[in-house]
Amino acid sequence: MELTDILILGGGPSGLSTALHLQQLAPQLARRTLVLEKARYPRPKLCAGGLVADAEIILQRLGLDAGEVPHVDASAAHLDFAGRGLRVRAPNSHAIRVIRRDEFDQWLAGKAKDRGMEIREGIKIKNVQPRPDCVIVETEHEVFRSQVVVGADGSNGVTRRCILPNESVHTARVLEVLTPAHAQSRAERREHAYFDFFSVPAGIAGYTWDFPTQVKGESMRCWGVYDTNLLANMPRPALKEPLAEEMARQGFDLNQAELQGHPIRWFSPFAKFSAPHVILVGDAAGADPVFGEGISIALGYGQFAAREIVRAFERNEFSFDGYKHRLVRSALGQALIARWGIAQVVYRLRWNWFQRNFWRHMGWVIGPVAWLFVLNWSKRLS
Ligand SMILES: Cc1cc2nc3c(=O)[nH]c(=O)nc-3n(C[C@H](O)[C@H](O)[C@H](O)COP(=O)(O)OP(=O)(O)OC[C@H]3O[C@@H](n4cnc5c(N)ncnc54)[C@H](O)[C@@H]3O)c2cc1C
Repeated sequence: MELTDILILGGGPSGLSTALHLQQLAPQLARRTLVLEKARYPRPKLCAGGLVADAEIILQRLGLDAGEVPHVDASAAHLDFAGRGLRVRAPNSHAIRVIRRDEFDQWLAGKAKDRGMEIREGIKIKNVQPRPDCVIVETEHEVFRSQVVVGADGSNGVTRRCILPNESVHTARVLEVLTPAHAQSRAERREHAYFDFFSVPAGIAGYTWDFPTQVKGESMRCWGVYDTNLLANMPRPALKEPLAEEMARQGFDLNQAELQGHPIRWFSPFAKFSAPHVILVGDAAGADPVFGEGISIALGYGQFAAREIVRAFERNEFSFDGYKHRLVRSALGQALIARWGIAQVVYRLRWNWFQRNFWRHMGWVIGPVAWLFVLNWSKRLS
């Protein structure tokens, strides 16, 4: 049995952010930390790769520049209903930076390794068992005994299932395809990111997206459809139908592209986030319910969790009883609660007239609410 002080299960943005923040806050603890990742970098991760400003701010505070990763900057984001709606720009900056996750996560893992963090790749966690004085973690070939375990193993992760087996599940359905960029499309269409909520009245409690991206330097579009499942009790079209409709409207054929799906576990204020000696971060804890936006959120969870771990070692107290209480009062938690509330309201008011008018004419409400309650939380996260 291998003994460790801190074991981070999963080397995506939340696990790597926890490691990098531990390294920044308490290098002596970081030296006693081990990250276990089942895949090997660069590993595939289904994701549209849209980074909002909060992600870049958290990385900058770690001394990291996401601009080092191959990317495409979308100069504006559109929140539309059936092709018309609100256009959002960031002052003096891009609205969304789009990366590919195989490249981004490999880069982030490289930065953590450069700073002395130990990451073991190709190690799959099978079981996580909290005991009164430690946690036992079983992998395919080894057993670890650790003082603290961070569950950073994503929406389908084993950590949550082991420590909170009876918790209710809040999971969105998500489909994604990549296509070559359309040479004929208008320059604006090529450079902007689009979210379209036209399918809410049909019972898809979410949106379709269309982002500019690149794969190995070649211009591409990333398309997808996100459904929180909040309207799962009513008849709904197959999830790929609104995506096919949106792509057809822009002159693309879904049948010509490879469709992939993956769930996103979203944040609920009624969920649990810890057990004795174990805390959850990133998708394992819960991403943004409105958009399924989880990269900035995962980086934020990492920052928050690192502080919690330092606190636990300072007090020699590892129950993590107050983890949820402090999380929901933090700037990250407040933004997640605001997004949870918005999703509950906006996706349940599914009348065609409401959705059409909301996205087309309520920009004067949406803009300030987004600015104050949804975005910009990272600056207030200490
Ligand atoms: C189709 C799609 C599109 C998305 N688009 C966006 C977007 O544009 N912008 C955005 O911000 N968010 C987006 N998201 C959400 C975003 O991908 C996640 O919120 C984010 O990846 C969460 O990071 P994480 O570190 O918590 O989990 P993950 O990135 O899932 O990382 C978990 C890690 O744990 C590892 N792991 C899992 N199980 C085990 C195990 N048993 N043992 C060891 N290791 C394990 C995995 O290999 C992985 O490396 C999208 C998600 C989907 C599905």
